[in-house]
Amino acid sequence: MPSCFTCTQSVNQKSPGLQCNGRCNQFYHAKCVNLTKSDLGSLLLPGSLWMCPQCRPTIDPDSSNIFDGQQSSRSDTDATTAMLIDIKKQLEALAANYTDIKQTIDNISTKFDVLDQIQAENIQLKTAVVDLSHRIDSLEQYYNNRN
Ligand SMILES: [Zn+2]
Ligand SMILES: [Zn+2]
Repeated sequence: MPSCFTCTQSVNQKSPGLQCNGRCNQFYHAKCVNLTKSDLGSLLLPGSLWMCPQCRPTIDPDSSNIFDGQQSSRSDTDATTAMLIDIKKQLEALAANYTDIKQTIDNISTKFDVLDQIQAENIQLKTAVVDLSHRIDSLEQYYNNRN
């Protein structure tokens, strides 16, 4: 019975796993290499290949040496990857800005609501003032007529 290279427990029906097709040829539990059950299911199909994290050829896009100035020694693919990562970062920054802008717009529209309210109150006040001045006019006329 094979045992998991990560945790040394046996790989069996109860704790399913798979064998690395890379140079180590070791067995690993699905859970020890962060594979879900459905991942494991499709990797166990005939013709599927799986390599453990140690054997997998890794191009780590976040590794710091992408921007270390050794661009000349890199392939176009690496440069493209770096460019894509840069664009992705800028898009993420834009998305963050967009959220900020949206919040600001939401705030402003709340303020517009308040403005509408103030305007409505203003119109009421104007009407009241006009009404009052009419009354004062008629009062004045009344007194003028009496004198
Ligand atoms: Zn394990
Ligand atoms: Zn391996």
